[in-house]
Amino acid sequence: MSTEPGTSPAPAPTPGQPHSPAHGSRIHGCLLGGALGDSLGYAVEFDSISAIRARFGPAGLQDFSALDAGSPFSDDTQMTLYTADGLLEALEWANDGVAADINACLWLAYLRWLGTQGVAVPASAPFQPPRWIDAQDVLKSRRSPGNACLSGLATGEMGTVKRPVNPDSKGCGSVMRSAPFGLIPHLEAETVYKLSADAASLTHGHPAARQSAGVFSLLIHALSSGHGLREAAEAALGQLLGGVLRKGENPDPDVVARLEAALRLAGDALGGGDVLSPEDLVGELGEGWVAEEALAVALYAVLATAPGTGTETGTADAVRAGADPAQAHFRAAIAVAVNHSGDSDSTASIAGNILGAFYGERCLPADWLAALQAPEVIRGMASKLATVTGA
Ligand SMILES: [Mg+2]
Repeated sequence: MSTEPGTSPAPAPTPGQPHSPAHGSRIHGCLLGGALGDSLGYAVEFDSISAIRARFGPAGLQDFSALDAGSPFSDDTQMTLYTADGLLEALEWANDGVAADINACLWLAYLRWLGTQGVAVPASAPFQPPRWIDAQDVLKSRRSPGNACLSGLATGEMGTVKRPVNPDSKGCGSVMRSAPFGLIPHLEAETVYKLSADAASLTHGHPAARQSAGVFSLLIHALSSGHGLREAAEAALGQLLGGVLRKGENPDPDVVARLEAALRLAGDALGGGDVLSPEDLVGELGEGWVAEEALAVALYAVLATAPGTGTETGTADAVRAGADPAQAHFRAAIAVAVNHSGDSDSTASIAGNILGAFYGERCLPADWLAALQAPEVIRGMASKLATVTGA
């Protein structure tokens, strides 16, 4: 059963202490939170930090209220919803007693997304029966989709780890769509990783792409299982280093280096240092156009702005002024994830997924939700996933 906003508020989490929102609220929070970050970031996706400051002032883009015309969600949210739908189809088959090929369900879902982008689905690809998501016209918009996502699917070949399409691609399109793999309860970590990495390989062949996607899904899985933010991030990285990879595959050194740097730099901020400037953020962790950089920037944004740390992020000031700590954290983290010269919508989408999975819906500011395009479509998919997973 899904949890609607406001009907069963989770207790306010104490920083560092466990809390436990209902799983349905985590699913809704993860998908809606990602859509909010994506939408705010999409307004400045291709802008440098100089251009962002020139348009919005020294602090950059902090809030939807600065956008007179609003901002729609982009391919990051579209593909995340199609990931959810591919998993949903596999779980529906399972509930009917049929063991469907989960990755084939993901491939069919992504092919149906490809059709929404004005790209002809190759004749060699199997027929994709339409589902609920395909009737949502708001998803049929082309909003700067990633090249590898388009080209990999347009081959009509089902990319695998062993037979990759786009063998050198490690764009962040593999990561930004992969939160839903972490939202299926009762799976072993190895299974979560494999589902996510195999689906990443449908479009991206570079090991960093599938490993970053897999670590992101493991992070969401750990959060959904009740772990704290840093604890979950360390656990997900530890699982990459310690056993989820298939035999003979080694952790990609760039993935490990970026994620270790994000954890270390966030630790510096938590220890009383300043949060990195937008310039230093991309200097240290990258601009986020490739998979491991997008995950690292998002992870840093979330960890370095946690409430109760005394940092100069705005979270502490907002809480002192009476703001809900979870919502103050969400606003501050998304601001860090949006305001830099890199791939703002993907880094903020991933950050929003993480915080929504951790806090559930309670971290989502009401005024931001009011500015979100087609929330009923995102809630609709979240409710379907919650129902089929028994949440
Ligand atoms: Mg995008």
